[in-house]
Amino acid sequence: MIRSVTVRWRMTLWFGAALAVILLGFGATTYFVMRHHLLERVDAGLNEELSDVLSEIQRGNDRAAMLGWLDRRFARHEGFDFQVTTPAGERVFANLRLGERRLPIPALGDMGEDSQYETYTLPGAGRDRIVTRTAQGPDGPLVVQVARSLNAVDRELVELLTALLIAGPLALGLTVAGGYFLARQALAPVDRMTAAANQIDAPRFGRRLDVVNPDDELGRLGNTLNSMLDRLERSFDEMRRFTADASHELRTPLSVIRNEAEVALGKPISEAEKQELLGSILEECERLTWVTDQLLTLSREDAGIAPNPREPVDISQLMRGVTDTMRPLAEGKGQRLATNVNGPVILHADPARLRHVIYNLVDNAIKYTPPHGTVNVTVATRDHKARLVVEDSGIGIPPEHLPHVFERFYRVDKARSRAEGGAGLGLSIVQSIVLTHGGTVEIASQPDAGTRCVVEIPLG
Ligand code: ADP
Repeated sequence: MIRSVTVRWRMTLWFGAALAVILLGFGATTYFVMRHHLLERVDAGLNEELSDVLSEIQRGNDRAAMLGWLDRRFARHEGFDFQVTTPAGERVFANLRLGERRLPIPALGDMGEDSQYETYTLPGAGRDRIVTRTAQGPDGPLVVQVARSLNAVDRELVELLTALLIAGPLALGLTVAGGYFLARQALAPVDRMTAAANQIDAPRFGRRLDVVNPDDELGRLGNTLNSMLDRLERSFDEMRRFTADASHELRTPLSVIRNEAEVALGKPISEAEKQELLGSILEECERLTWVTDQLLTLSREDAGIAPNPREPVDISQLMRGVTDTMRPLAEGKGQRLATNVNGPVILHADPARLRHVIYNLVDNAIKYTPPHGTVNVTVATRDHKARLVVEDSGIGIPPEHLPHVFERFYRVDKARSRAEGGAGLGLSIVQSIVLTHGGTVEIASQPDAGTRCVVEIPLG
């Protein structure tokens, strides 16, 4: 049930419950300490009177003298009642006020010289505190009793209890109301944040929560939520851009295919023209397939669902494999593809994805290097990391573009890149794969001088 209650009520209820326990403890302690103290005072009075009675009993040499002394001092005593009896219960002396009323005599047992204090409820007369003691009278043992009514004490205790029962709940009520008010004040910023957060949606992603005091708990929460919103906004923008770029990238080959098909259907064409159109359609289909494959690879890397087999891989061997495959391409452009690969460099990695990384980097180097340039590839180990460097003497990347080349669909020169078959996804894929392997990738470039890509992946 308590779960469905608001935080401010929950705080108030906990606070109220804690306070109720404290007040109850405090009230009970006050009551019992007071009661104990009052009874102690009554007992002290009884003890004083008892000593007086005992000393009067000692003074009498015979029963008559003793009764004379007792009568003189205690017959009309205010506040206390006195009763002296034989152990058999025969009354020897009682004060006038006691009259026919008899104080109950407790079981004497082996009381000896001790005084016995007891509280009795006397029918019609309230409670009495009675002290009983045995003493040696002039003609045998006697039971001496002094009593005092507890009515005054009980009245005081009832007054105290009434005060506690009124003041306690009143204090509790006031404090709970105050607590609720304070909790409401303290949590008001949360309500404001909730209202502001409700206003934030896709078209109004730029809005942020108001942070009154950035140093308190709610301020820190607000700041954390705001920076989370910043990150979300960034990825939202990225996603928007990505979707726009992806649809654009897919639309271009589709419109080419559609045009070609319309041309083919629109008029009678020769066999040679047909061959050319179908060839062009096929080429665009290949491009579509290639782009969608790249997108699939990226989204799998993003979602972390790409199969991630880890096995010992010799990256030098992988590099040799890729350069051997690509050498004809480089040589076709009159480029020199030099590999500086020595002994094996073993990594725990996914060989297919590492090949993808190497392929993309070498492919870029060849693509963006003019004929007769050079492409240098090096594999080495440094600081427990495999280090892969692909350098070229190509067209380079202008500094203003350099920070963006790892972004999806980012191309420095769209027309040129597309002509080379690129969709601006190659380096994004490289980065995703390298990050999955716990590594880093860096790119440095000088326009018209060349580009250098360095990938480092921890060994083991
Ligand atoms: P693409 O598939 O278009 O090559 P990439 O993501 O691989 O896309 O690269 C992004 C952009 O970075 C490219 O369009 C290109 O302009 C630039 N680039 C990448 N590698 C090189 C390189 N070795 N030399 C010059 N420019 C490069």
